[in-house]
Amino acid sequence: MNIPSFIQTEVLIIGGGVTGTALARDLALRGVDCILVEKDDINAGASGRNHGLLHSGARYVAGDCEAAMECRSEGNILKRVAAQTIQDTGGYFVAVQGDDERYIADFPSHCARSGITANAVDVATARALEPALSEHTIAVFEVPDAAIDPFRLSLESLAQARNLGARLMRRPAWWASSAKDAVSARCGSSPSAAGRKCGSKSRRWSTQPAHGHAR
Ligand SMILES: Cc1cc2nc3c(=O)[nH]c(=O)nc-3n(C[C@H](O)[C@H](O)[C@H](O)COP(=O)(O)OP(=O)(O)OC[C@H]3O[C@@H](n4cnc5c(N)ncnc54)[C@H](O)[C@@H]3O)c2cc1C
Repeated sequence: MNIPSFIQTEVLIIGGGVTGTALARDLALRGVDCILVEKDDINAGASGRNHGLLHSGARYVAGDCEAAMECRSEGNILKRVAAQTIQDTGGYFVAVQGDDERYIADFPSHCARSGITANAVDVATARALEPALSEHTIAVFEVPDAAIDPFRLSLESLAQARNLGARLMRRPAWWASSAKDAVSARCGSSPSAAGRKCGSKSRRWSTQPAHGHAR
């Protein structure tokens, strides 16, 4: 197996899902040298298996206002920097008979507190648009949820990152061996979907196993 003895980079990103590819793009835009290592395919993990819902933050408004605001602001950033991957569908929050009346009554003010618009929609109007709505529906609010294509998002992030000099190592044979443990050991973190920056200076990553020989 052809194992490179050293790879030099400033940041090693482990995992090419939406997080890793966006991180590569962000670093490359800032002129930071980085390598993205993906053991499988781009979006082979959760990023290729999700519902593609770009949350407005409305789901968090009752329990975690801070998370709701962060979600809203990050969604807005994505709508600006990756608009071509997003369809501004809007979304419905639907209450059915038996749901907590207080939650329903407070929902619009909770949304307002987090800066998220929530417009009450007449049930018949909502059902005309979405015939599959439950017949037990008692309240509907429209919130700025959207649909996002996570494959396009990751591939476009990665394309821009690579154009700017970021390097991609996909399924490197040596990574599947115990070599990755040594890389992680040098980084001071265990293998994870996204690595961690380990210092401000460019460094050489040992690809030799920490113990014994590469298999
Ligand atoms: C069923 C489901 C539905 C969801 N629906 C939504 C939704 O509608 N809206 C929403 O916002 N979120 C949703 N999520 C959550 C969302 O998908 C994740 O938060 C997001 O994809 C995480 O991205 P990630 O890049 O951090 O991780 P991942 O996409 O899991 O990427 C991790 C990558 O790391 C790689 N990897 C792992 N270990 C190593 C290693 N040792 N070396 C190299 N590479 C490695 C994996 O192969 C993988 O490609 C959903 C999640 C699930 C499971």
